[in-house]
Amino acid sequence: MALRKSSVPMAAVQPMHVCPKCGHHNSTANLKTLQVEMRPVLTREVFAFPDALAEVNCLKCQECGHWMCLDYRIELDDNPEIDLNPE
Ligand SMILES: [Zn+2]
Repeated sequence: MALRKSSVPMAAVQPMHVCPKCGHHNSTANLKTLQVEMRPVLTREVFAFPDALAEVNCLKCQECGHWMCLDYRIELDDNPEIDLNPE
């Protein structure tokens, strides 16, 4: 069995988030959770990596339109094929 790390849950979202660009206080009720497929770049040294899905919490500033990433987490495939030395 390949070693599998348990995924870390998202941090609790604060009700308000200050835009780093214009300082506007945004309600995190408009938070969007987007899924991104991870495509690792494999090299000769790191030649195996399981497929993974990343989830990001994004929020768009209501004042200036600046996108902010509040948190993210990476979810590995349930069957990562990284058994390099199977029994
Ligand atoms: Zn802003």
